[in-house]
Amino acid sequence: MTQSVCILGATGSIGKSTLRVLQQHPEQYTVFAVSAFNRMDELLEICKSHHPKFVVVPKDKALELQQRFQQDNLNHIEILTDEAGLIAIAEHAEVDIVMAAIVGAAGLLPTLAAVKAGKRVLLANKEALVMSGDIMMQAAREHNALLLPVDSEHNAIFQSLPTNYLQSERTGQPKLGVSRILLTASGGPFLNHSIEQLHDVTPQQACKHPNWSMGQKISVDSATLMNKGLELIEACHLFSISEHFVTVVVHPQSIIHSLVQYVDGSTLAQMGNPDMCTPIAHALAWPERLATDVPALDLFEVTQLNFQSPDNVKFPALNLARQAMQAGGLAPTILNAANEIAVEAFLQHKNRFTDITQVVEHTLQNVHNAKAENIDIILQTDMIARQVAAQRIASRGV
Ligand code: NAD
Ligand code: MG
Repeated sequence: MTQSVCILGATGSIGKSTLRVLQQHPEQYTVFAVSAFNRMDELLEICKSHHPKFVVVPKDKALELQQRFQQDNLNHIEILTDEAGLIAIAEHAEVDIVMAAIVGAAGLLPTLAAVKAGKRVLLANKEALVMSGDIMMQAAREHNALLLPVDSEHNAIFQSLPTNYLQSERTGQPKLGVSRILLTASGGPFLNHSIEQLHDVTPQQACKHPNWSMGQKISVDSATLMNKGLELIEACHLFSISEHFVTVVVHPQSIIHSLVQYVDGSTLAQMGNPDMCTPIAHALAWPERLATDVPALDLFEVTQLNFQSPDNVKFPALNLARQAMQAGGLAPTILNAANEIAVEAFLQHKNRFTDITQVVEHTLQNVHNAKAENIDIILQTDMIARQVAAQRIASRGV
């Protein structure tokens, strides 16, 4: 029996890597549904090679897609639209596995729907967990969903933790002999830039990551280190550990993907060439292993692994995220929303690279934090934070 997979965000970097892994194992997996927000040409190609039963696109793209399906004899594929469509495929009774690979807050409700339907959920969409941490983790427990990390660092941590760690009691304290998590960061493309140089960097430079090929938003997040900030929050929720047990280590080669330290002095790490197909295959098949075309690590070629502390003055995003996690409640939602707006503005040349964290800080100071009691409050706060961030950007200009 094959397992049926739904890919939310199939045309993205993670979506395509997922399809690459699935394609190599047609006897084990079938693609049941895919979603795309834009790039309809790519979606069409995906449909031709993977034959899903459903696709989900924005309403204003549905008619055009239907016409193209007719031309290509793909009429049997059903087109659903917008958020309702995403939720429908995420919780569909025929789906076993959901890859949550939409970027940003747009992925929150579909990911939560998959969790509530008790699916195996492969989590790439870290923003969803940053926004809704406690609610998402609680829903996973209540509905027996298996929430597995695809983010390379969290997947590495998961691989380095004791096997029964996720099932054990969630206390916020290290347990089962674990003493600390070391979350690695590449440092991004501007690791060795001066503060002055950072003022003038362009979106194109920011999106050129030294080790990973990723979507634009996460590439900019990697350059500001906000990605590591979001990942810090992600780690706290996934592994139920308070933020002061998580140390960020800059490791420019991205060969060690993160580490777990134990009370007996052991440090376990997961290593590999930087290719997302490895954590995707791991999360798909866990506790089994699935072959990929990622070449085995050649240590004679690597020769050097370097480590340093993050520069919190040059890259204030990490501390902002740490403070938001300490503050709790809606603060991570506010941080994430402001960051999404500021990154988008940077990509459109409407603010500078160094303004991104300033906008986030301003928004955190000006949007009221409260308990993240339910999804409605989270979504409302997300909207308010977006408005505050946008106003700040508009009032300052470039
Ligand atoms: P991407 O920009 O390449 O792809 C995003 C996907 O989401 C696309 O399929 C797009 O059509 C869809 N999408 C965008 N906006 C949408 C909206 N408003 N509604 C519905 N769908 C929408 O991004 P990516 O690099 O694949 O990253 C996806 C997620 O995975 C992000 O949360 C990112 O942080 C996380 N992640 C990515 C990597 C990586 O290597 N790319 C690594 C770790 C985690
Ligand atoms: Mg990562």
